[in-house]
Amino acid sequence: MYSKITILTFPPEISQKALVCQLTKKYDLLFNILSARISNKKEGYMVLEISSASKTGFNKGIKFLKDQGVSISSPEHQIYKDEEICTHCGACTAVCPTEALYIKRPEMEVIFDKEKCSVCELCVVTCPTRAMGLFSSKTQEVLV
Ligand code: SF4
Ligand code: SF4
Repeated sequence: MYSKITILTFPPEISQKALVCQLTKKYDLLFNILSARISNKKEGYMVLEISSASKTGFNKGIKFLKDQGVSISSPEHQIYKDEEICTHCGACTAVCPTEALYIKRPEMEVIFDKEKCSVCELCVVTCPTRAMGLFSSKTQEVLV
């Protein structure tokens, strides 16, 4: 079984099309939606874990999406949260589009759910204490 986390970005004109369902119907791929934001007439995105019996099958499904105008990228970078530096000010939760960062109540503690993170980096530039950062999935090196 071949499986890969893939980020799909849909331009506004196709964001309402049910293209992802075609992955199963036409290419026998399985997918698990890790996070998504699709709105009418706006750019949308989905983070999917796509699984296939073979890499060839996976590639055919990805080609189909690209042919329809979907941009495809892989999370080569990952986001980390330095718990020792975080002051739980909440600023990052206001910019996070996927709710990967949220406030746990009543503790008022800011939690990072990396499964929902689309690696948009908005929290990295927003965090006043630099608790949010970026590292390479390949080398595990801290980049920001
Ligand atoms: S913006 Fe930075 S310091 Fe504030 S809650 Fe988020 S990670 Fe913590
Ligand atoms: S990079 Fe930060 S702001 Fe963007 S989805 Fe991940 S946690 Fe949220």
